[in-house]
Amino acid sequence: MAQRTFSIIKPDAVRKGYTGAVLAAIEQAGFKILAIKKASISKEQAEGFYYVHKERPFFNDLCTFMSSGPLFLMVLEKDNAIADLRKLMGATNPANAEEGTIRRKFAGSIQENAIHGSDAEETAAFEIGYWFAGYELI
Ligand code: GDP
Repeated sequence: MAQRTFSIIKPDAVRKGYTGAVLAAIEQAGFKILAIKKASISKEQAEGFYYVHKERPFFNDLCTFMSSGPLFLMVLEKDNAIADLRKLMGATNPANAEEGTIRRKFAGSIQENAIHGSDAEETAAFEIGYWFAGYELI
């Protein structure tokens, strides 16, 4: 059954002009782009989104980075969307990401790593609801 996941094209990839290439990779992998919007988010919005990481040493830098420029917020749909997007993204650190993955091709560092994807069903539900209203998901 089709599953939804939440994704972000992060500010580094948008700044470098990789938005179109990342979207093409997502579509070529069989995802339907159910919703997409460009946004410039505040540091407070980033902190709320990443609250599970609030005790991690990189939390402040991560939230500063995520609020450093425009990004694209997306809801993607496909069978097995959550796991399949994680596979397409590649490892968090692009140095460890497999050949052909989005992070291997487009990420610059462990922090500025081009793309976000939900890691589980509960996080996908929280993340979709954090950025999108129900009427936007049609
Ligand atoms: P993901 O699920 O692969 O995105 O990775 P995590 O959930 O562990 O971390 C969330 C985000 O925090 C990552 O995508 C990176 O942007 C950032 N991040 C993770 N680990 C580190 C780190 O060790 N240092 C820094 N500066 N940022 C990190």
